[in-house]
Amino acid sequence: MSRVLIELSDVKKVFRTEEVETHALSDISFTINANDYVSISGPSGCGKSTLLSLIGLLDTVTEGQYKLAGHDVSAISKAERSRIRNKEIGFIFQSFNLISDLTVEENVDLPLSYRDSLSKSQRIQMVDEALKKVSMDHRKKHYPSQLSGGQQQRVAIARAIAGKPSLILADEPTGNLDSKNAEAVMALLDDLHRSGSTICIVTHDPRSASRAQRNIDIHDGVIIADTAQVNPHATSTSEKTEWASRIEETTEKA
Ligand code: ADP
Ligand code: MG
Repeated sequence: MSRVLIELSDVKKVFRTEEVETHALSDISFTINANDYVSISGPSGCGKSTLLSLIGLLDTVTEGQYKLAGHDVSAISKAERSRIRNKEIGFIFQSFNLISDLTVEENVDLPLSYRDSLSKSQRIQMVDEALKKVSMDHRKKHYPSQLSGGQQQRVAIARAIAGKPSLILADEPTGNLDSKNAEAVMALLDDLHRSGSTICIVTHDPRSASRAQRNIDIHDGVIIADTAQVNPHATSTSEKTEWASRIEETTEKA
């Protein structure tokens, strides 16, 4: 039985400055079940990042209700939002957002260090485990500037998953990566999904979007399509091409 993890009802987000009012999101309603893999797409400026920030408790709704794991989180305090975010939500950004004067292991440990319930040795173990998962445990003492973009994003993923969050939110995580590194990041997200995480990814890349079970399409702050997709973790186009060429090769030789 699927459990509803995220429930948005008639959510609106308005940004107000002295001169202008921007209606970034209007009447957004949908649910996401635990262990769903959802991609969000739409043109630049349509409200994708705003939506992810609301889901990730980085910001609050202007109107409407947001229930996370059955709890109404629409109007909770900033401190409470931070606490839930730290424990339940892992964020991955296009620009990695690593802290430049902290080492790889210090970056991954940072969110864990805010949790009173964890001992230093537990944290070391969690950091280790997360870095192993993204194959970056051999670069613990490096600084972000000493790593390639793909490696930095893998460290950022380690930071997002070290605390074993139930929800992983990724805002164009492959936007700054070449196709090979993008593929590695998408494969990691597939793995996390298979091991039980709920994943919500904003992406421009149709190949990345095709790996999700469901695509939500946004235009001007409203959902214009919400489509179930068959074949999650479908072989990516590049893999297909690779397979196709290998098969062709074999056929030629035969
Ligand atoms: P997307 O991620 O789809 O490109 P965003 O969610 O970043 O779009 O932005 C949606 C709209 O809200 C845009 O018009 C943007 O300019 C506006 N917006 C986003 N954040 C803010 C903010 N903090 N203050 C004012 N306007 C904002
Ligand atoms: Mg955006």
